[in-house]
Amino acid sequence: MALQFKRVLLKISGEALKGSDEIYDKEKLGDVAQQVIDLTNQGLQVGIVIGGGNIWRGKLAGTLELHRIEADYMGMLATIMNALAFEATLKKMGFSKVKVYSSLEIKTVTSAYNYRNAREKLDEGYVVIFAGGTGFSYFTTDTGACIRGIEIQADALLMAKNGTKGVYDCDPNTHPDAKFFSELSYDDLLVKKLQVMDSTAATLSRDGQLEIVVFDMNGKNNIVKIAHGELEATYIK
Ligand code: UDP
Repeated sequence: MALQFKRVLLKISGEALKGSDEIYDKEKLGDVAQQVIDLTNQGLQVGIVIGGGNIWRGKLAGTLELHRIEADYMGMLATIMNALAFEATLKKMGFSKVKVYSSLEIKTVTSAYNYRNAREKLDEGYVVIFAGGTGFSYFTTDTGACIRGIEIQADALLMAKNGTKGVYDCDPNTHPDAKFFSELSYDDLLVKKLQVMDSTAATLSRDGQLEIVVFDMNGKNNIVKIAHGELEATYIK
């Protein structure tokens, strides 16, 4: 099947890159990178947001008796580490057209975010990585992904899950009779309080009319498949 979209924002969680004992699994990093290279070579414009959960999450603040704000900034820094790891992996694999923008500026290794420049880079065939979340505490990388997706005028936010093929009315791991949704409206997402993304991200996607495709990235070439509409998934629009 042909590509379903011209430009996407791919959101993957930090967990998706995690090894069993290490913060990174080389194979997983390489696999996602290869799929992104393949899609870019096929003509898809790909922006990426990677979470930070393989390294640190703000909700771990209590474990070190930190304030949530400090812990959140640590989480945002974790997303920058992941962005650099992904950039380095793409380059190691021979793909050099990569640009990393960060909401938290670290001038030596990232560029300050500018939506016009990001759109231009995407048009030029660059893979564009958006690091640092929103740059604000008390937000999530899902919200960051919605904002960037809207600002780059992505045709869709491809929301990668690990081991769940889309959205259900309850947890399919604990409820074998859970109902799967192949299509949902933004209001369903907000009213039914489905566990897809936080409510800030859900509200933003509705306000920006950003189509969301929730899919399972675990499976051979699933990111490539979803871009071609060849995978069962939940479409929210
Ligand atoms: N975070 C934040 N503001 C943002 C994005 C992220 O404060 O705009 C922090 C927050 O503490 C979060 C952590 O960064 O727990 C890692 O991001 P997230 O949990 O969204 O990563 P994921 O679960 O997708 O790997």
